[in-house]
Amino acid sequence: AIAARAIDVVKTYGSGDTQVRALDGVSADFVRGEFTAIMGPSGSGKSTLMHCLAGLDNATSGSVLIGDTELMSLSDKQMTMLRRDRIGFVFQAFNLVPTLTALENITLPLDIAGRKPDKEWLDTVIGRLGLLDRLSHRPGELSGGQQQRVACARALAARPEIIFGDEPTGNLDSRSSGEVLSILRASVDEFGQTVVIVTHDPRAAAHADRVVFLADGHIVDELRDPTAESVL
Ligand code: ADP
Ligand code: ADP
Repeated sequence: AIAARAIDVVKTYGSGDTQVRALDGVSADFVRGEFTAIMGPSGSGKSTLMHCLAGLDNATSGSVLIGDTELMSLSDKQMTMLRRDRIGFVFQAFNLVPTLTALENITLPLDIAGRKPDKEWLDTVIGRLGLLDRLSHRPGELSGGQQQRVACARALAARPEIIFGDEPTGNLDSRSSGEVLSILRASVDEFGQTVVIVTHDPRAAAHADRVVFLADGHIVDELRDPTAESVL
């Protein structure tokens, strides 16, 4: 089954002489239960592709599907609900609520949706991300790496169909990176979730099932079962 699909997606910014064609007809399928890393030079369109796939930005033309849902057909309200109910985001900008504890931040999306967490999964996520002894701390009392791991736990807690990460290990030391990557891997292997990350880090890409390479707004290559050496 397809978890997400881009069909001939074009994204331009600006107009006239200063127009930038960030995506120039990108088509890609993201199969359910697969972990994909998107790599490529700075400015090649990675973030733009991820934002279009995740419904954070509208494609200029082409279409994007999450499951069977065509994003262009949704109203703003339906889009907000789709993001809330079906998508998890692990972005570098943590966006944690400063007045809430780590645990309250992690369960906030579930609380808003009025859903009960799966206790076993929540414990697994918190344990594997090394956050057990940090749950009652507020973001201001946590290191950057701990805050990023709280944001990761928050994205995974509701067990969304598909998880998007923009440089999810970007600011992390190698131990924290390993924890984040292994929980993303576990969500795929143990629950059949779908993960798509943008990364510059060959060690992060090595955790993926597949790497898609972008250059100048095009997909130029694809590699299955990558290793840290083979993606360089
Ligand atoms: P990457 O993530 O691979 O670094 P981006 O998707 O961020 O690439 O950017 C692709 C191209 O689109 C770049 O030329 C970038 O400068 C341009 N771009 C991205 N976002 C905007 C924006 N909001 N306004 C104008 N140009 C943008
Ligand atoms: P990264 O390469 O880490 O993805 P960027 O510096 O390309 O980060 O982009 C950071 C943010 O700035 C993104 O939200 C992107 O859409 C925006 N952006 C990138 N390039 C431009 C640009 N030329 N003009 C306006 N906004 C941009």
